[in-house]
Amino acid sequence: MTAIKVTKAAHSTVGEVDLNNIVMGKKFTDHMFVCDYQDGEWKNPRIEPLQLIPTHPAAMALHYGQAIFEGMKATLGKEGTPLLFRPYENAKRLNFSANRMGMPAFPEELFVEALKQFTELEKQWIPTKEGSALYLRPFMYADEPFIGMRAATSYKFMVIASPAGPFFSRKIKLYAEKKYVRAVNGGTGEAKAAGNYAAAIRPTEYAKAKSYDQVLWLDAHDFEYIQEVGTMNIFFKIDGKFITPDLSGSILSGITRMSVIDLLRSKGFEVIEKPIKISEIIEASKNGTLEEAFGTGTAVGIAMIDEIGNNDFTIKLPENNPVSVMVNDTLNAIKLQKEEDPFGWIVE
Ligand code: PMP
Repeated sequence: MTAIKVTKAAHSTVGEVDLNNIVMGKKFTDHMFVCDYQDGEWKNPRIEPLQLIPTHPAAMALHYGQAIFEGMKATLGKEGTPLLFRPYENAKRLNFSANRMGMPAFPEELFVEALKQFTELEKQWIPTKEGSALYLRPFMYADEPFIGMRAATSYKFMVIASPAGPFFSRKIKLYAEKKYVRAVNGGTGEAKAAGNYAAAIRPTEYAKAKSYDQVLWLDAHDFEYIQEVGTMNIFFKIDGKFITPDLSGSILSGITRMSVIDLLRSKGFEVIEKPIKISEIIEASKNGTLEEAFGTGTAVGIAMIDEIGNNDFTIKLPENNPVSVMVNDTLNAIKLQKEEDPFGWIVE
């Protein structure tokens, strides 16, 4: 494999940060990983001091949106070893997104190696408080200066990182959106493409203005089927069993989602992936079988839900959600090597 050239920052700014009291995404670590795609191949993988990147005003990502990203977290395990959670899954999903957006694949081995070396270099930035972690943001964008609608011929793949505290410490309230949609089969909702998030910003602002925390995204045809919540996948516990929307072509395949499915099944729960109508949830709420609901995602882990509604209906979830708490605690314990990792998810 191509060696990664490392140029270290002259000074670390980690001392300026209180890692136990931090807002995610504002403060960045000392370095960045960069790799260039030119003439049909990835070249010059390197770790450099974090700095501005020269951008031509015609860079195609700015105009046509060839931009994709990933989200991962590094934690510190026993004996202070930096740990990654299922990084090969992120590598695979990045390449799935790249393919959908007409962008080149990034070699999976180099992706994981880059993340390992980068995380090792930045390990003093990994917060240790429960629920905290170093958020890693791999991304790829088209940097070719060109005006015209075609796939770019040059790209950059980069990784930056930002220390993150625990996300939602309280339960969340979801607005079941019936005007705007996030994704449609055949569209780009299955990819982690920057433009998907741009399209979600205004509806999320509207939901927040109505005192909700996140949007519950419904299908684009009938606003009947549940897709995702905010930037998370969603699970419901009804009558002892878990259900989650199947990967129908308009849902991002969350790595937390796949891990929660495996974890629940290993604990003896039945988990069914299937199309879920909002009316099914309303019915379960009315007849008292709706027991728990939560969102899953790297940034948040498990986000417990206490209400879902819009102008037409309100569903209140029961106060106690013991299985959601167990899932959250088990995932956190595995990520800190406080509990065994029977699934082989952790990469040192
Ligand atoms: N759906 C969307 C739209 C997301 O942006 C994310 C965050 N990556 C997820 C679901 C959850 O995915 P993961 O568990 O891999 O973070």
